[in-house]
Amino acid sequence: MTQKTGVAYQGFPSKEELASIPGVPDKDRIKKGPVACIECVQEIPCNPCEEACPFGAIEVGKPITNLPKLYQDKCTGCGNCIAACPGLAIFVVNGAKEKAEISFPYEYYPLPEKGQTVECVDRSGKVVTSGKVLRVIKSPKYDQTAVVTVEVDTEFLDIVRSIKRLGGADDE
Ligand code: SF4
Ligand code: SF4
Repeated sequence: MTQKTGVAYQGFPSKEELASIPGVPDKDRIKKGPVACIECVQEIPCNPCEEACPFGAIEVGKPITNLPKLYQDKCTGCGNCIAACPGLAIFVVNGAKEKAEISFPYEYYPLPEKGQTVECVDRSGKVVTSGKVLRVIKSPKYDQTAVVTVEVDTEFLDIVRSIKRLGGADDE
């Protein structure tokens, strides 16, 4: 029997889905510095990402069910769009340094602290490596959602998308 994969079956996008959407930057752009990776694969009526980008690097347009398109050369990697996405589908990745940097939305407490070593998880929530927290940013506009940036070995740039919850919460 064929195994069914993808966001509708597993709750997170498959490699095939990610390869077919207009929100994911190419490898050359990722190597140049921080850039948004918009892993939005379902055609739903939603567009706060478009409004959150001060550089016009995201277009949803009309109809509002369009998948968001990333204009990778306009994107500065500022991260404004990360917390604006209600689907928690936007990340910023940076492949320009010796280690990969990944920024992601994080809605749990306690928040990690800068410098902390944390367990990093893939899109399914499985721990795949450890990483170091570089930044934790909270904005008053999106006070439920912090943006956390971790540093991991480069082979995990396309894999790590969050961290394991901290504290005593039993998250699995
Ligand atoms: S990271 Fe900044 S520049 Fe890039 S798409 Fe998001 S808001 Fe726009
Ligand atoms: S805000 Fe998030 S869920 Fe909505 S269209 Fe943009 S990326 Fe997709």
